[in-house]
Amino acid sequence: MSVAYPWLEPVWQRLLATRSRPAQALLLAGPRGVGKSALALEWARALLCEAPRPDGSACGVCPACHWFETGAHPDFRRVGLQEKTSKEGETRLATAIEVDQARDAVDFVQLSTYRAGYRVVLVDPADSLNLAAANALLKVLEEPPLNTVFVLVADQPRRLLPTIRSRCTRLDVGLPALAQATAWLGEQGVDDAPTLLALAGGTPLAALGWCEGEVLDERRGVLEGLARPQALDPVTLGERWKAVAPQTWHDVAYKWLGDLLAVRLGGSVQFNQDFIDVLATLGREADLGKLLALAKTQADEGRTLAHPLNRSLQLQAWLVEYRHVFD
Ligand SMILES: [Zn+2]
Repeated sequence: MSVAYPWLEPVWQRLLATRSRPAQALLLAGPRGVGKSALALEWARALLCEAPRPDGSACGVCPACHWFETGAHPDFRRVGLQEKTSKEGETRLATAIEVDQARDAVDFVQLSTYRAGYRVVLVDPADSLNLAAANALLKVLEEPPLNTVFVLVADQPRRLLPTIRSRCTRLDVGLPALAQATAWLGEQGVDDAPTLLALAGGTPLAALGWCEGEVLDERRGVLEGLARPQALDPVTLGERWKAVAPQTWHDVAYKWLGDLLAVRLGGSVQFNQDFIDVLATLGREADLGKLLALAKTQADEGRTLAHPLNRSLQLQAWLVEYRHVFD
């Protein structure tokens, strides 16, 4: 049986070859948007399946496969970022995996299994474990109970505790070849795959994410504004762009500044291939010090992505700074 995305096939075959003696702690590492989570789930399903195919993959029809499908397999536990509701009633994902979640997983692996086979704990994104959660998990990773398999998924494995990393068998999931990613996006009905892939840093799932809803139009609107810094009116644009989701805004602004910096430092445009001429001109005109300062602020914002009370005011302040880069 083939795995969710064609570029995962080689790494999937490597995993399947270990089906009879799987690593007790597996770390799937690689850039965001290449399908690591899908791979981890497929692996968990294969391990829990009670009538695996000759190649080791899940049969899809046994009771275990059925429970897995419905999210009800008693020997499977998924530890991830929980949704939290703020006082204002806004729901968003927590930024870290908390210690009580890790303790739940630890308790879970101490129980005997419901079925005769493996018990699987998926920790995704493992690089979001906070320190207390990581330490709680470390104890069971050091001496995992019999028939227990941990699968950790991380975009940034360096953020894991070294002691956790050293307990894991690491499997890297790399970027697909450009031709393969382009072909796959074409099959998904994406028109301009090369532009989107550049925008997404080569990761096909992130490229596909850019096609959802209004995101591409919003990006274009923002970039057309940023492309003419002298004509830009911070008040009008701040008011207009407050409707853009903070994550989208951050991503667009961050990559735009990244391209400007690259050009300013004599490199080439990495993300915004469709604005390559504008970037080539603007990048040469930019004040390096101011541009660096703004890019740093933008990177810091990305770590929190806080919702300010007055979004348009915040955008206005940003746009004033941006305009100064080209004074
Ligand atoms: Zn099965």
